[in-house]
Amino acid sequence: MDEHKPIPANSPAFEYVYVANQRCDCGDCFAVVSQELCNTPGGPIDRVTGRCKGCGAERSFDFDIHSFFGDFEKYDRFRQTDQHFRAAMAHVRERRLEEAETALRQVVDPEEGEPAFAWGHYHLAQVLFMSGRPEKALEHLQRAAAIQPLEADIYTGLAHACRALGRAAEYDEFLCRAETLREKSGG
Ligand SMILES: [Zn+2]
Repeated sequence: MDEHKPIPANSPAFEYVYVANQRCDCGDCFAVVSQELCNTPGGPIDRVTGRCKGCGAERSFDFDIHSFFGDFEKYDRFRQTDQHFRAAMAHVRERRLEEAETALRQVVDPEEGEPAFAWGHYHLAQVLFMSGRPEKALEHLQRAAAIQPLEADIYTGLAHACRALGRAAEYDEFLCRAETLREKSGG
């Protein structure tokens, strides 16, 4: 993902979810310390700054909030995305893959859901993989990795998708990356 391109957000709650899901280079997570609204020629941008709970490094995240800014009826809509996500997880546990896929597509829907929700893409990929579509799974895993580039589980998923597609060199590469990240985060 382009570092300078604002992150699409369809609700204020998602901005916090996004920052909480990011990892610092040291492997630890961020806590939000400030939030600033900036009016740019391209539209309103919300700049959320997080401080690493481990090393104290600060990092700012710019969110494109034009889809909901000033439209108060939309401020609460992460609740619905979260409900779709929980429903999807229940479907996955019960092996209802079609229902899970439908719900996860709603979770990452560019208009109604949150397209920058990495775990939505990750779980959608798992469902696509389980229903025999490793190529489609790979696409969503790549999107998840672009959003959260320091997450071991996402690279394990990428490795499995590559193996299913006969891409042995990438399988080894992703598995190795997953291992390195896992050691770093201590889990
Ligand atoms: Zn850190």
